[in-house]
Amino acid sequence: MNVRALPAELIRRKRDGVTLTDADIAGLVAGIADGSMSEGQVAAFAMAVYFRGMSSVECAALTRAMARSGTALDWSTRDLGGPVLDKHSTGGVGDKVSLILAPVVAACGGFVPMISGRGLGHTGGTLDKLASIPGYDTSPGLDRFRAAVATVGCAIVGPTAEIAPADRRLYAIRDVTATVDSIPLITASILSKKLAEGLDALVIDVKVGSGALLPSLDSATGLADSLRAVSEDAGLRTGVVMTDMAQVLGRHVGNALEVAEAIELLTGSGGDRRLSEVTRTLASELLVLGGLAGDRSKAAALVERALASGAAAEHFARMVATLGGPEDLLERPDRYLPRAPVERPVLPERPGVVARVDARSLGLAVVGLGGGRRRADDIIDQAVGLSHVCGIGERVSADRPLAVIHARSLSDAESAASAVRSAVSVEHDAPPVGSPVIRRLSASS
Ligand code: URA
Repeated sequence: MNVRALPAELIRRKRDGVTLTDADIAGLVAGIADGSMSEGQVAAFAMAVYFRGMSSVECAALTRAMARSGTALDWSTRDLGGPVLDKHSTGGVGDKVSLILAPVVAACGGFVPMISGRGLGHTGGTLDKLASIPGYDTSPGLDRFRAAVATVGCAIVGPTAEIAPADRRLYAIRDVTATVDSIPLITASILSKKLAEGLDALVIDVKVGSGALLPSLDSATGLADSLRAVSEDAGLRTGVVMTDMAQVLGRHVGNALEVAEAIELLTGSGGDRRLSEVTRTLASELLVLGGLAGDRSKAAALVERALASGAAAEHFARMVATLGGPEDLLERPDRYLPRAPVERPVLPERPGVVARVDARSLGLAVVGLGGGRRRADDIIDQAVGLSHVCGIGERVSADRPLAVIHARSLSDAESAASAVRSAVSVEHDAPPVGSPVIRRLSASS
């Protein structure tokens, strides 16, 4: 064997700041995918990249190698009659946009083969949320997945053994080795899966603020630039929208609670303003990128019609039923979504206005309740979390709690309550709250 091709040697080169070649990177990715690199070696490689970074050429090579580590979907033989589109988020707290956006875009004529991830660190994952729907098959196999996309217009599933398997393994190891918040690793992780999905266009929601993987505007802008450069290199038409994650998106955090909130917005029985605005913006951007609307205002009108007419809700219901979930989930979510045995409001120490929220700490409070993982093999409690979380600028008092805790036990609820109190700053006044949409970067490629 060529000494340079040994994983330990390649890890050493990255550790020492040497630029890796395409062949080096292809060798590492092959070792991650086929298991010949040990978990320790994969973690060491991730940590070396975390500290040394990657050039955009290296990052593009990593992305391509990870995309090629499995099967790539090819929709050309299916004659779908509409563009194949998807959205991805860099991850946040309370971010249930995908659950609403995929059926909205399907209702507008797009086809959305969405492969979503598990929760990562303090951020939730769409896959874990869907796992709270009884019977919903998040790993249906490629044939059933393709058929669901073709007949319903959207299907949201988890990473499959076939699509970007290298990312699947690397993602799980990064989650538990403090190597999530690395621009090249996030870029390659997101885009490898999206390239393998065979998309016509993609929109990426890059989060900024305390609950984001990369909280500062500078680092989030760096990530947005990296995503645009690598997707351009790969020939994938990609738009990036930067959105606010300085507080929870929507009102609920926790798997089943977030599915319930998405259903409320889809059916018009509720809906947080910021959640609605972020969802509508991303969906509109995608309709324009995919050629389904001539401009943003026409796209916004299509999105409004899909929500108001119930067409988006109907697509969601059909997706759930097609993938094995209950036929009447939208009519009776309480019957199916699990509920935690302990529910406790967290009252503020004194009345006032919410001035700041540490969204990351709220995400970690949900992990502490069992709603996320501390280790890659942890089993998630779908029912626990926080509901009715107050937003910045909102008045709180003995009648309006900071949040309601949903816990397995009283002692879990007490620990979460003190975490919530420390995460939410209550003052006399709060700064005015602007739009959650910070910046729209036009399409690359
Ligand atoms: N989403 C992903 O798919 N991968 C990351 O690394 C971060 C967010």
